[in-house]
Amino acid sequence: MWSNWWRRRRAQQLVWDRSLQHSLIAQLPTLAALPPSDHQRLAELTAEFLVDKRFFGADGLTLEPRHLITIATLACWPILRLGYDALRGWRELIVYPGDFSSQREVAEPIGDLELVHEYTEALSGESWDRGPLVLGWEAICEDLQHPEDGVSVVIHEIAHKLDARTGQTDGLPLLPRPMSVSDWSQTMSSAFAGFRATVERADPGEQAMLDPYAAESPAEFFAVCSEAYCLRPDLLRGSLPSVYALLDQYYGLVPERATT
Ligand SMILES: [Zn+2]
Repeated sequence: MWSNWWRRRRAQQLVWDRSLQHSLIAQLPTLAALPPSDHQRLAELTAEFLVDKRFFGADGLTLEPRHLITIATLACWPILRLGYDALRGWRELIVYPGDFSSQREVAEPIGDLELVHEYTEALSGESWDRGPLVLGWEAICEDLQHPEDGVSVVIHEIAHKLDARTGQTDGLPLLPRPMSVSDWSQTMSSAFAGFRATVERADPGEQAMLDPYAAESPAEFFAVCSEAYCLRPDLLRGSLPSVYALLDQYYGLVPERATT
């Protein structure tokens, strides 16, 4: 069971150590390259996140400020322009020390019957629609050691949360005005189909630009591209320029100022 939890506090009572956030920002070149006004905004959003969400440590993990501030900072980075409302509608975060297992079911039709396969999968992150966000701390630390890989399990799961705001997790998040649903769908569908074809051709040169897991579904494609947009915008812009431009309209983090 959950070993502890983080009580909600009134915003004006929340005291937290900004130096933890400063050293985290210094580890992430594209985040560090954003202007000081964005870092101030990030601190405000982080404070709001820490007040709004409840953290639970699982499997004996005792949560400390470094866990909470690291996760809150990474979760609020993608919503610097979207605003905090983009993260409402869910409250709990469950943090495991390492990967955790999740029960899965896959149904296979056999004539008029349906055969249900049940299996257990090891995960480092999982987002439940309107439910908790589940994370493995070890994977978060590994991501932070290699930002050049363009991978972040926290940003990935936050992208799923943003995606789910429409009521469906299908790769189409709730778009801010004046973005158009049809432009989004056309650009993402065509880029997803193209990426899937490269994965099916098993062309390692083309695949190297993005985790092949992005070919699983439009929702995973959006989540993986969101990680790349934040951490390796140069790679995303070079390999999928239309997706880069669309995500830049959505997230608006102008990361081209960053050097990676
Ligand atoms: Zn995913």
